[in-house]
Amino acid sequence: MHWNVGRVKITKIVELETVGHTRFILPLATNEEIRKLPWLIPHFATEEGRLKMSIHALVVETPSRRIAVDTGLGNDKQGRSIPTWNNRRGPFLDDLTAAGFPPESIDTVLCTHLHVDHVGWNTRLVGGRWVPTFEKARYVFGEREYAYWRDHSVEPDKAAIFADSVAPIVEAGQADLIASDARICEEITLIPTPGHSPGHMSLHIRSEGEEGLLTGDVAHHPCQMAHLDWSSTADSDPVQSAKTRRELFARFADRPVLVIGGHFDAGHIQRDGNAFKFIVAGS
Ligand SMILES: [Zn+2]
Repeated sequence: MHWNVGRVKITKIVELETVGHTRFILPLATNEEIRKLPWLIPHFATEEGRLKMSIHALVVETPSRRIAVDTGLGNDKQGRSIPTWNNRRGPFLDDLTAAGFPPESIDTVLCTHLHVDHVGWNTRLVGGRWVPTFEKARYVFGEREYAYWRDHSVEPDKAAIFADSVAPIVEAGQADLIASDARICEEITLIPTPGHSPGHMSLHIRSEGEEGLLTGDVAHHPCQMAHLDWSSTADSDPVQSAKTRRELFARFADRPVLVIGGHFDAGHIQRDGNAFKFIVAGS
């Protein structure tokens, strides 16, 4: 599945798709509440009101760069708090290669933030060691985000994530720590979007007069555009995350900006009363 923003092409490589079982992440998004938002159905929720979500990477090709934005869960990882995220043996790398992006062809890896489902394929297990999956890439981490997890990964699961998916990149000399508003290349500038995590970043794409926004996890699901205060259980600062949602969606609403989430497909943001709704791209 792919989209274009001017001369920039964005391709989604799915690692995992889910329907329902999202109460642990968005407890207020009950089936009954979701059925009150008919614009979510069928693309982002089922008729019964169960949320559709995915864990995916977005490959962003500009005229000069090939960037992997967020890298999913990864294989062979241990110590994750969600049991099925341990010891995975998924075909993600084969799927990435089949889509035309062998790992060695990726020149940049950019993590919007350093949560478990966004850093997994940063590394793979080779001979008992975690090595960079994308051997020729520079890995771009937000300096604020990196410092936070380096200093605050005290719970065992957080420590495992940092140790197997972030630290080996730094040790290999492939990490670049950057400001949350850095310009990555001619077409891509970062926007600081804290709240879900302390140094969370979104990507603003501009090319030939067209615009795109890769939100990362500012929202886990478009239902949070209607309910800006529906913060996720994974948000480190639920008040700030709601404020960030309002600011970011207000900036890009009612304009022809292609918006793609860290866990949902492309659409356009529209104002809807005091909040927003999301209209699937192409409809
Ligand atoms: Zn996520």
